Amino acid sequence: MGKVSFGLAVAVSCAVASTGIAAVLVVRRVRRRRRWNRVLAVLKEFEEACSTSVGRLRQVVDAMAVEMHAGLASEGGSKLKMLLSFVQNLPTGNEKGIFYALDIGGTYFRVLRVQLGDKRSAVVECDVERQPIPQELMTSTSEDLFDFITSSLKQFIEKEGGGSELLPGRRRDLGLTFSFPVKQTSVSSGHLIKWTKGFRIKDLVGKDVAECLQQAINKKGLNVRVSTLVNDAVGTLTLGHYHDPDTVAGVIIGTGTNACYLERTDAIIKCQGLLRTSGVMAINMEWGNFWSAHLPRTSYDMDLDVDSPNPNDQGFEKMISGMYLGEIARRVIFRMAQESDFFGPVSPRLSVPFTLTTPLMSAMHEDESGDLREVTRILDHALGIPNVPLKVRRLLVKVCDIVTRRAARLAAAGIVGILKKIGRDGSGGVTSGKTRGSGDSKIRRTVVAIEGALYTNYRSFREYLNEALDEILGEDISQHVTLQVTEDGSGVGAALLAACHSSNSVDK
Ligand code: ADP
Ligand code: MG
Repeated sequence: MGKVSFGLAVAVSCAVASTGIAAVLVVRRVRRRRRWNRVLAVLKEFEEACSTSVGRLRQVVDAMAVEMHAGLASEGGSKLKMLLSFVQNLPTGNEKGIFYALDIGGTYFRVLRVQLGDKRSAVVECDVERQPIPQELMTSTSEDLFDFITSSLKQFIEKEGGGSELLPGRRRDLGLTFSFPVKQTSVSSGHLIKWTKGFRIKDLVGKDVAECLQQAINKKGLNVRVSTLVNDAVGTLTLGHYHDPDTVAGVIIGTGTNACYLERTDAIIKCQGLLRTSGVMAINMEWGNFWSAHLPRTSYDMDLDVDSPNPNDQGFEKMISGMYLGEIARRVIFRMAQESDFFGPVSPRLSVPFTLTTPLMSAMHEDESGDLREVTRILDHALGIPNVPLKVRRLLVKVCDIVTRRAARLAAAGIVGILKKIGRDGSGGVTSGKTRGSGDSKIRRTVVAIEGALYTNYRSFREYLNEALDEILGEDISQHVTLQVTEDGSGVGAALLAACHSSNSVDK
């Protein structure tokens, strides 16, 4: 072969090779773009399904108010149980002495000692000891659970300093905050209806929770009387009302979610004849079980529900509360990972339910570093996915944002639902939050006490909730509505109620 024809052959084969390489690169780029588009499509579909326009939120508000009426009208009339708390006398501010509380939440358990002082509405001192509830106790026996709790109470009492010794013939009064659905039979007794938030202690269902605790206390030889049994929302409302008499409701946004509010006894139709017709009573809504076709439910919510130990139950709670938000986000991220190889081979850890907890999700969401370092760290350490590109990390932050925004806005709609039911939402009429004087109308100040670490520790959640309240109510009304955080309100409130119902008290 001559030099010229050899050179030509090389040139031709180089051209063919480079065309081939270019073609391969183009194919790869096209595939990559397709995979990216698929990930974007997952995000877009999720975002649309989570839509909480103000119109939709108003439908949720109306549905909440309607269900509240139905739950008050007859037993089983609604998915909202609207349980009586028998709390009719809220603390006056004249209570004095040392009182105790045990607060059994969904994740934590707290022991409290509250000293009520001489001055009106003064909690002089409050000691709180908080510890996580061991995972194995959540599905064990009631004996194990109460044994653990009373051991902590015993240690707590033994540790306390001077000044809290009992006078002869006296017992310590204790309020129990038990944050699960209970059918109360009095202010100090009630039967567990069902477990929520991942608990499953079969032998306690149907039993009197306060009586079981009292037996465990007696077994330990402690001179303590369980004077009241409440749930966390009632405790929170009680402390809120103690500090500010304009408080009308208590809302919990922690591991689970719930609300209670002050209702006129004559509006509790299902108990007419049994209750005094005048006055008010705190109603434990058990709003975690609220359901309405207007709630923006996605396929991820449905799958989470099917896989949960309580399918078809606690639908509102599963969209809003700390136990579930991280898990919803994990399911969306898992789906994205299946749709593309941006995350490498699908990590086995990513497929395990509840590996992405809500505190981790909020840390990803609120990562303010330009290169999303915290997101990188959490993906690597918690989910076992290293080297996720920045543009994908940004999408994951967006997933967290969608989950949290929907949750917070739905919680806001729930709160406005309560305000609507008691006529404090400004929607018109004499009972609408306006007091009519001589010709002019004045909007009444309304306070909602709120508690739970999802609300207090997660800034974006709080901001979205407050923003939605303003949107739904409109500024004219919302400026008269205050959300007031009551730190440890669920426990302190129970201690206050124990003071009201104390056998030692002369100042009830
Ligand atoms: P409990 O529900 O047991 O009474 P808390 O009110 O303290 O306890 O709520 C605990 C729950 O709050 C946790 O399980 C978690 O879901 C959520 N949470 C706690 N800290 C954060 C955080 N920084 N960001 C988001 N959620 C949080
Ligand atoms: Mg709690």
